Amino acid sequence: MFDELHEECGVFGAYHVDEAAFSVYYGLHSLQHRGQEASGIAVYQDGRIETRKGKGLTIDVFNRPDLEQMKGRTAIGHVRYSTAGGQEAENIQPIVAHGHSGSIAIVHNGQIVNDMELRVELEQKGCIFQGTSDSEIILHMIMKERGSLLERVEKTARQLEGAFSFLVLQDDVIIAVRDKYGLRPLSYARNGEGYIISSETCAFEVQGIYDHVDVKPGEAVSFSRGLVRHHCYVDHPTSHMCAMEYIYFARPDSEIESINVHAFRKETGKMLARMDEDLDADLVIGVPDSSLSAAIGYAEESGVIMESGLVKNRFVTRTFIQPTQSLRDRGVRMKLTPVRDVVEGKSIVMIDDSIVRGTTSRRIVSLLKEAGAKEVHVRIASPIITSPCFYGVDTSTKKELIGANKTVEEIREYIQADSLKFMSCEDLKKAAGEVGLCTACFDGRYCSPLFSHEKSARGEE
Ligand code: SF4
Repeated sequence: MFDELHEECGVFGAYHVDEAAFSVYYGLHSLQHRGQEASGIAVYQDGRIETRKGKGLTIDVFNRPDLEQMKGRTAIGHVRYSTAGGQEAENIQPIVAHGHSGSIAIVHNGQIVNDMELRVELEQKGCIFQGTSDSEIILHMIMKERGSLLERVEKTARQLEGAFSFLVLQDDVIIAVRDKYGLRPLSYARNGEGYIISSETCAFEVQGIYDHVDVKPGEAVSFSRGLVRHHCYVDHPTSHMCAMEYIYFARPDSEIESINVHAFRKETGKMLARMDEDLDADLVIGVPDSSLSAAIGYAEESGVIMESGLVKNRFVTRTFIQPTQSLRDRGVRMKLTPVRDVVEGKSIVMIDDSIVRGTTSRRIVSLLKEAGAKEVHVRIASPIITSPCFYGVDTSTKKELIGANKTVEEIREYIQADSLKFMSCEDLKKAAGEVGLCTACFDGRYCSPLFSHEKSARGEE
């Protein structure tokens, strides 16, 4: 119904923390924007791994008695949005496997691109899969390797291609791993005598913690015997942080590679304003929530006032019952409502973070015009999306991406805007400063080989 991008997941871990399950619960709650389909926690307790998980938001899956029963001091957790693997219960994480060397639990954010090849190889060696997620592939590989847990995790990570930030729990040990391209964020922070580990730093701040350390690309960080050790498992890691983390996914209060997400978005808004020196608009509005920071930047740079012209209903998620055909046209209205008093008779600059298929932008422009807006000038705080993502983001196929199939003028005409501008890829990279970005969905330059996804990347399937 809504043509938005979706992140695959968020992970959180607590090592040697009192009431670790509660700590993970609060962490997952802060990461809920990264996945709302399912939630789960695994805790190391009395020599065993206890797991609780289910479909829905973290607050719906867990209650206080559940968490009080999970008594251990080391735990990992996950919030899920499925791109690789379906929505079946077997794919809900943490996934746990039991073997001769004990039980191991895993939580994973990202997407492995050589998943088909690895799955076939493992099946030929006799592995039986419970679900269809690529995270289970990683778990089987760790189980099959020999050596210490760290050695098995490192050997596995070296064979994986694509995007992964995952946490592995065995006994009283957590290992946090990031792929060699650094596509997905992962950081940790001191918490009393122990540590907490998270996909995003916003989850530390809710626990009153403001200092953190990033797990670097190509690193495995072990939390064991009360100590933290960093191990580089590849020779030449690179920096290709997903640009969409800054543009759309991450919370504005998160810091990724030492850049605050709100500050990054504000900068992109300023860059858009500099492209518009001749535009005479009455007000700027941002599409809530992810475009508000860019709208603030635009307003600050241009001197045009910013107003709250659209109100968002935050409770329309992927689990929201799809409307019938007759109600479908009201879909965006259920999620976004224009404020008539603000927009009526005004020439508006509408800032949005991205255009995927164009249907949502078209509906928002039409809602604003129905509410009386005189002109709607759409400014997009990212370049044109022309290629699909294979690194854990649900961006449709090339066929469905409006930017892969139409010119800017054709897109403007389709969404019925009075004018339309996108940021350039060069400006996007400038906003990131020293941080190397993955910009593959804008320029088709993937940082890894794509294996079975090559054809989709070329738009051949
Ligand atoms: S292709 Fe796009 S969405 Fe995917 S990781 Fe790269 S920048 Fe992020």
